[in-house]
Amino acid sequence: MEQPTDHKNVSSADKYKNFESTEKSNHGRLPTISEADARQAFLEYAKRHTGYSSTPAKEMSIENIKALKIYRYSLRTFYEERETAWKTCPYYGGEVDGPSNGTAPNPKNMRVYRPYWFVTGEKTIIVPHTSKVQLCICCAGKRMVPCPPLIVCMMCLGSGLYYPGRCFSCGGTGRVRCGLCFGRGRVRCIPCIGQGRMITFLQMKIKWKNHFDKFVSNRNSEFPSEKVDKVSGKTIFSDEDTLVRPVTAFSDPSINESFRNILKEHAKLSKHYKILRQHQKIELVPLSKVYYEWKGEHGAYYVYGVENKAYCDSYPKRCVIM
Ligand SMILES: [Zn+2]
Ligand SMILES: [Zn+2]
Ligand SMILES: [Zn+2]
Repeated sequence: MEQPTDHKNVSSADKYKNFESTEKSNHGRLPTISEADARQAFLEYAKRHTGYSSTPAKEMSIENIKALKIYRYSLRTFYEERETAWKTCPYYGGEVDGPSNGTAPNPKNMRVYRPYWFVTGEKTIIVPHTSKVQLCICCAGKRMVPCPPLIVCMMCLGSGLYYPGRCFSCGGTGRVRCGLCFGRGRVRCIPCIGQGRMITFLQMKIKWKNHFDKFVSNRNSEFPSEKVDKVSGKTIFSDEDTLVRPVTAFSDPSINESFRNILKEHAKLSKHYKILRQHQKIELVPLSKVYYEWKGEHGAYYVYGVENKAYCDSYPKRCVIM
């Protein structure tokens, strides 16, 4: 098996600086949509909703399009969980990797082939030089254990009598042949499955997992943040490292604070697990507020995401066919 090669260390002071300048230039020119796209989005919105007439979307005159923005921050932490436990199984022969072969490594520091970054999985391995073969305690290595050749007859419950005379099942002896050993007086030992010896070793179970969190910075109180989950944004910052650093490039300190808090939460994983890799990403999700006029009625709706989806909390009432 080949150890997957690590990605190049992409995080550097320069990268964070570049991001800052990108973010600054973005303030100047937010992505805007054309009137045609805004109308098309509204038309599709009407089509998606049963009972909504598409007339207002066709006839309205667009008065203004205001470009707004939503940031979506996501953090993925790839970590490893290691658990060890002593295991004992029947020994069927073969090589025993015991302490005479060397000192057992500390399971926490053992080098283990892991999957690619952010790919979940699990693996069970035997810690080297921890195996030991011993006689089975149950049978003392004899492979067989005693078993009574005769057992109490269930028909007469040992009395030998069954109305009106002798028990027909045991012939009046009150005992019948044991069905486990067929009267031989011994059976195969169960814990060692008749092998007479047991092997004990330290087993380590490793699990690779991902922890994911996201945060949406939305300053537009009328626009529900959860809508953003279903659309794409434009990645303006992407960073990967063993431990990523908090992004502090936003002029709004509360946004930076939110990023830092998510990072802090993920850092708590290191109490019980080993963090192997982190990936953080910031996307700018386009959002436009479109003001329109239709038959003297003024209204507004939002167009959001790279997909240009529309959202409206007050579709012109008289166009809703009940
Ligand atoms: Zn045994
Ligand atoms: Zn028996
Ligand atoms: Zn009987």
